[in-house]
Amino acid sequence: ALAAAQDYDFFFLVLQWPGSYCDTKKSCCYPKSGKPAADFGIHGLWPNRDDGTYPQDCNPDNAFDPSKVSDLLGSMRKNWPTLACPTNDGVRFWGHEWEKHGTCAENLFDEHGYFSTALRLRDQLRVLDALRSGGISPDGGYYTLSAIKGAIQQGTGFEPFVECNRDESGNSQLYQLYFCVDAGATKFVECPVSPGGRPCGNRIEFPAF
Ligand code: 5GP
Ligand code: 5GP
Ligand code: 5GP
Repeated sequence: ALAAAQDYDFFFLVLQWPGSYCDTKKSCCYPKSGKPAADFGIHGLWPNRDDGTYPQDCNPDNAFDPSKVSDLLGSMRKNWPTLACPTNDGVRFWGHEWEKHGTCAENLFDEHGYFSTALRLRDQLRVLDALRSGGISPDGGYYTLSAIKGAIQQGTGFEPFVECNRDESGNSQLYQLYFCVDAGATKFVECPVSPGGRPCGNRIEFPAF
């Protein structure tokens, strides 16, 4: 087969706050392994182009195979938990992310490389520590967008894009953080373009989980 050409310029590493996935009208389900830790989990590592567009579903012949990441499954359950219903073991979420996004970076990594790289990048950030050091905790309190971004910039060296969703009462809450990673997936970089996430307003809840 022809070697896949690189069809992206950088990656978004997208982290989700489980409290905000669950604290919605739709609610959530804990995975089979039990309630995840109260920490940011991975949503995905997404190849993206500088113009804001992105490739997806690049190789239908390379379906997710859990046996290829058997040594990573413990870490994936902990740091990349699924919160979708009905309760499941995560294979559907991981399979979706690999097939939609990971297969578009086959020039760079195979399935094992995709998951191990995303896990390593998440570990490097220690986002919750950065927020706590800046006085921002998942305590159900409200924070400004600039305080959240400033604390993460201080603690990690990089300013993420912050995406919000709404709790059951309609309050804006901190849902996802988008960090940018270079095309070789070796280091964090300033983002070339913002993702299409929803706006936050300036009064942002950080719910407990
Ligand atoms: P996306 O296409 O938005 O990258 O991936 C979201 C898909 O993964 C949706 O089909 C969603 O139902 C599923 N999914 C499974 N578990 C989770 C989870 O914990 N968080 C999010 N955001 N999506 C999940
Ligand atoms: P600026 O680029 O001037 O900082 O912001 C332009 C607009 O984008 C403002 O409405 C600001 O609130 C919004 N914005 C900037 N950064 C973020 C972010 O990380 N998340 C969200 N949701 N909006 C942002
Ligand atoms: P949503 O419409 O919920 O923001 O995004 C749905 C799905 O589309 C995401 O889970 C992700 O798979 C994909 N997506 C949305 N925005 C972006 C983006 O800016 N870049 C990339 N690479 N994928 C995105």
